[in-house]
Amino acid sequence: MKAFDDIYAYLPQDSKERLEALFSRYRFTESQKLEIVKDEADLVQWKEGSYTSKAPYSEIDSRLDGRKGDAYIKGMRKYMSRLRSEETDYSSFFPAPQPRRKHGIREVDKDIVLGRCPCPVDGEKTRCCNLRTLDAVEQCAFSCSYCSVQAFYSEDEIHTIGNLKEKLLSLELSPDVWHIGTGQASDSLLLGDDYGTLSALSAFAQKLPDVVIELKSKSARNVFDREYPRNMFFSWSLNAPTIIEKEEHLTATLEERLEDAERARDKGAIIGFHIHPMVYFKGWDEEYPKIAEEIESRFSPEDLYTISIGTLTFTKAVMKKLRQMGRESRVLEMELTEAAGKYSYPLEIKRKMFSTVYNAFSASFQSGVFFYLCMEDPSLWLPVLGREYSRDKEFEEDMKRHYLAKLGRKP
Ligand code: SF4
Repeated sequence: MKAFDDIYAYLPQDSKERLEALFSRYRFTESQKLEIVKDEADLVQWKEGSYTSKAPYSEIDSRLDGRKGDAYIKGMRKYMSRLRSEETDYSSFFPAPQPRRKHGIREVDKDIVLGRCPCPVDGEKTRCCNLRTLDAVEQCAFSCSYCSVQAFYSEDEIHTIGNLKEKLLSLELSPDVWHIGTGQASDSLLLGDDYGTLSALSAFAQKLPDVVIELKSKSARNVFDREYPRNMFFSWSLNAPTIIEKEEHLTATLEERLEDAERARDKGAIIGFHIHPMVYFKGWDEEYPKIAEEIESRFSPEDLYTISIGTLTFTKAVMKKLRQMGRESRVLEMELTEAAGKYSYPLEIKRKMFSTVYNAFSASFQSGVFFYLCMEDPSLWLPVLGREYSRDKEFEEDMKRHYLAKLGRKP
């Protein structure tokens, strides 16, 4: 069975031996074997104890109804479901440090094609702002364990686009393009301006003052020794210190990211934050509200374009890639509920997390900054943010109005 073999091949030897012993002890159907191997792979990655070492074998062995395999599966499901539904416990999780890989940097000659954000088309199931994406750099040297960017591009090389400035300046944009993000295929500030990316984007932003170019980062590259056009929007993804330490390997700390944002603001840039991806872990309800406090103690609403809030969301393909990459991580130790072809926490958990962080902001921030939920179910907007949109277009237009007002321009 291919799906079984694909996962089995990535398991460590001791797991393979335990599974072989289990399969010769009880009879399982092919689909049960697949379920067992998937769960074993997850437990290895989460560094949780394997169920093969915890199952109540004497109780199962004493059954006289011949359904020992079924009894094993029932116990395993209960064990997995308990781990998935509880807040993830990071106090006992110490992942191996991720090595800093030495990437070559190669300029590639390719055309610039704008993509669209990963929301499902015309979001019935998510509220989408219709962000267009520009992959000016491909591959990332950071190692966030929920991210599959590293598996999608060349392992040893980071690619930049040759003649980026000329290509951007001759790009014909359709009139509906008004905001472009560059952080989909890498961290937007990973290379700073070492390869001219920022200078090229700067020239592009200058040419198109009504188009907002967003650079999203988890770094602290300090590229603010100069001023940028006001429509260049520098944003930082922020997370709870526990998640940064255990899951966002090699990135800047929360403090470093906030300090970088302060430098950007001090140079006159309008900035923003993404509290994303929020993780439901033991301590989330203390650490996430503290991020709101930190933001308020350093910035005023006038400094910010937006604050977005969102959580872990995976496609099946990304989950498969993450399992194959085999990094020690607890990001998939969660209740995976399907929505719009993707998997994420149940809505009730999201509502609780998003409301808690939003309500940690003062009234002046809530009214003075454009808060939004990124790639989330439309039904969450009203209970969390107290407002909602009936269509994507309404959301997009409201966001655009807000951006242009910050820029002092008319919509
Ligand atoms: S910084 Fe962004 S692109 Fe890089 S590994 Fe983390 S999530 Fe992925």
